[in-house]
Amino acid sequence: MDLTERQRHLLRLLPAVDRVIDLAKTASGFERIPKSVVVSSIRTVIEAQRRRVCEGNGTLTDAELSDGAIMDRVKETVQLAMRPNLRRVVNATGIVVHTNLGRSLLAQEAIENMAAVAAGYSNLEYDLAQGKRGSRYAAVQDLLCEITGAEAAMVVNNNAGAVLVCLESLARNRQVIVSRGELVEIGGSFRIPDVMAKSNAVLREVGTTNRTHLRDYESAIAPETGLLLKVHCSNYSIVGFTRQVSLKELVGLGAIHNLPVMEDLGSGTFIDFSRYGLLKEPTVQASVASGADVVTFSGDKLLGGPQAGIIVGKQTFIERIRQNSITRALRIDKLTLAALESTLRLYRDEERAVAEIPTLRMLTDTEAAIAARAAVLARTLAGLPDSRLAVDLVRLPSKAGGGALPLLELPSRGLRIRVNGLSANALELRLRSADPPVIGRIEDNAFVMDVRTLQNDEFPLIESALASILKSD
Ligand SMILES: *Cc1c(COP(=O)(O)O)cnc(C)c1O
Repeated sequence: MDLTERQRHLLRLLPAVDRVIDLAKTASGFERIPKSVVVSSIRTVIEAQRRRVCEGNGTLTDAELSDGAIMDRVKETVQLAMRPNLRRVVNATGIVVHTNLGRSLLAQEAIENMAAVAAGYSNLEYDLAQGKRGSRYAAVQDLLCEITGAEAAMVVNNNAGAVLVCLESLARNRQVIVSRGELVEIGGSFRIPDVMAKSNAVLREVGTTNRTHLRDYESAIAPETGLLLKVHCSNYSIVGFTRQVSLKELVGLGAIHNLPVMEDLGSGTFIDFSRYGLLKEPTVQASVASGADVVTFSGDKLLGGPQAGIIVGKQTFIERIRQNSITRALRIDKLTLAALESTLRLYRDEERAVAEIPTLRMLTDTEAAIAARAAVLARTLAGLPDSRLAVDLVRLPSKAGGGALPLLELPSRGLRIRVNGLSANALELRLRSADPPVIGRIEDNAFVMDVRTLQNDEFPLIESALASILKSD
């Protein structure tokens, strides 16, 4: 490639890597940065500038290749390299159980217990009373039985794992009868037919998409039948001319034919949301009371705890699941267990659970309370001294998310933010690139933030993110 005189001049100005490494040795701000990060950042910056010179459109100035300018870029690159990949974000989407944003925030007590268990040894599998080996599940088993009314309980890594191990334990090489209306796919490739195949159970679908009758299950029962399964349609709803068989009816049928009945509740909740003016979601207690032999649900959806798969049910079946060697591969880790136990303890007092478990608090927050918080945030942001900024209060619907309560729209309040001269997409990108990133949504060509999912301590973070966007533009 032929270089122009100007390009050759710029390449001569470009400092050598070794020289910049020497500069970094004495410059401030690099003291605690690993040498490998500094060196690779320097290489990245110099290579980028070399490319700009060679492919450049002639806009590069001499000053941009000065030691100072290069060092500034190296510092920025180092900072990006040192920033954790997984980090906190501000959820302004209004989706409470947002799977892509980490589902549930933990209650303060759960966070503290988790930190304590992380920092020290624990009695994870040690029976302190007996002074010998104990069970990993002991920490939560009694609590789960107490809350749900079940005979026995255990936990694994997540609900997908719970369904897998239950099917494998109870129905390997046998038929599992499921309604066609319940063959759900959850985001992230969890599909009932696939999990069934992986567990070596044979799917026997009955009924139609919209209507399944008890007689459909009944006529499918054969010597190879091993289990009757009911799956909660977490993330969709079949409306209109419909018929589903209740868990109670299935339990009755299972009793006649001596077949176990399992329910995958998906989200699972211990509280009756209809008491808080929300849609009714079947509770775990109700499933247990209906006589299901095994019930599975997630720890981090409507329960508001850490990622976990909870299995409750009859002693004999839970014991069989526990003996399955797959359980070992799906076992819950001690930090999760610590957070789960603390979260479960809060459920002993429903009022406390609703006040202290962030997922429940956000779901049951009243529109009036959200409106008051929105007004506070709007006033703060409107106080930023920049005439390009326009902040309006808007009404908007929040969603439960996490594949739960799919039809529920929670009336909420938010802020519409506009910056004159900046498109909604550009503003969204800048807020998403802020530290911490602020994730909102775009509606009617404007950036909006739903205040329901914002924590009060995040207001100053949003303010400073917006302030620095206004300053740099
Ligand atoms: C969410 C869900 C699962 C998977 O639960 P995870 O905890 O995400 O593994 C399984 N079944 C149903 C019905 C669900 O809604």
